[in-house]
Amino acid sequence: MECNTSAALILLPAEHFITKRLIHQTHLRLKHTGVKTMMGALRTEFWNRKMRQALKRETSKCTRCQRLDSRHFDEIPAPLPM
Ligand SMILES: [Zn+2]
Repeated sequence: MECNTSAALILLPAEHFITKRLIHQTHLRLKHTGVKTMMGALRTEFWNRKMRQALKRETSKCTRCQRLDSRHFDEIPAPLPM
């Protein structure tokens, strides 16, 4: 019986340090891209039952993405004194 090793995915534990490092490294390698793109890249080699949740959690910690996704500060200026 011949086993196709290219189709075998590596199972990642959900809350493990290695999983977090792999997600962080992929996030930086793909230039701070979104969850869907990272999931597509990671699912070619790895499998994790809660991959989307882990990606969202690790992406939300990225300060660069937080800065890019932040809303503008729209404050109405106080009226000038007469
Ligand atoms: Zn980022």
